[in-house]
Amino acid sequence: RRLDSRSGLSAGLLGEIQTPISTEPMEGVYEITGELGRGKFAVVKRCVEKATGKVFAAKFLRKRRRGRDCRADVIHEMAVLEMARNNARIVNLHAAYETDHDIVLVLEYAAGGEIFDHCVSEELLHEAQITRLIRQTLEGVHHLHQSNLVHLDLKPQNILLTSLSPPGDIKIVDFGLARRLGAVGELREILGTPEYVGKVMSVGVIAYMLVTGESPFAGDDKQETYLNVSQISVDYSREAFSRVSELAVDFIRKLLVKAPEDRPSAAECMSHPWLWQQQFCLSPDPATTRTVRERSCGTKWTAPPEDPEDK
Ligand code: ADP
Ligand code: MG
Repeated sequence: RRLDSRSGLSAGLLGEIQTPISTEPMEGVYEITGELGRGKFAVVKRCVEKATGKVFAAKFLRKRRRGRDCRADVIHEMAVLEMARNNARIVNLHAAYETDHDIVLVLEYAAGGEIFDHCVSEELLHEAQITRLIRQTLEGVHHLHQSNLVHLDLKPQNILLTSLSPPGDIKIVDFGLARRLGAVGELREILGTPEYVGKVMSVGVIAYMLVTGESPFAGDDKQETYLNVSQISVDYSREAFSRVSELAVDFIRKLLVKAPEDRPSAAECMSHPWLWQQQFCLSPDPATTRTVRERSCGTKWTAPPEDPEDK
């Protein structure tokens, strides 16, 4: 938060983009049809490309924020999206426009909304669906890390679905806080939403929220929550875990650990048996249950088998 966007370069922002920023009115090309979401400095609207009928999401980013010129931040967000393109798990940047107030990023449309909705819904997703979404999220995170990019704001509101029901594939969005490692000396200075900061801890938090419908650090008041976050204190005996598989708990436990150096990398997470389990609490057969438990005990995870669903 202490980043100063007046000095984009010293803050480690990327400045080079390939996508041209058109100053033509975008209304000539797109029909804007409604609002999809909004944040502090952005409004995201649904729009239809008139020539093709294709739907996109237009993210209107204010150039001036708190009286300061933040154009460099928007260019950086575009540059990160461009660096991460060619990966199906990262939202694609289609075009860009500029008006007096905003830079508009025309993004691939994710019609299924935020996976956050599945964390607060009465009806939680099946574990088989959740593991598929977590695998896809890890694929995206792994791709980012391979390009030395860190998202820093990975949370259920920033992971969208291509379709709602049945849940489609995930798209990671919102690269406003993303940074390229190596460009900045002090990573500690560029914290994202505090609850989600960490190598892959954010994926553990997301998995926790999807399987329980609760937040892992929620306390009775603000102070308790703060303490839980800072201590990474998680209660796995909660009622919410009664229907959650042991492998899921094992996965979450290995991600939600205090010392960052003890957290697995995205690639290591990928081989956790929970993500590759074929049956979820369906088999009463104690033999299969035992094998699954035995596999989860060791810290060394085996290589994942091919997943036919993901091809
Ligand atoms: P902010 O930086 O304000 O958080 P986001 O990029 O996260 O902006 O967008 C805000 C919200 O808009 C998202 O949480 C999501 O609900 C919606 N949204 C963003 N991008 C898309 C998209 N490509 N398709 C559909 N909805 C989107
Ligand atoms: Mg967001």
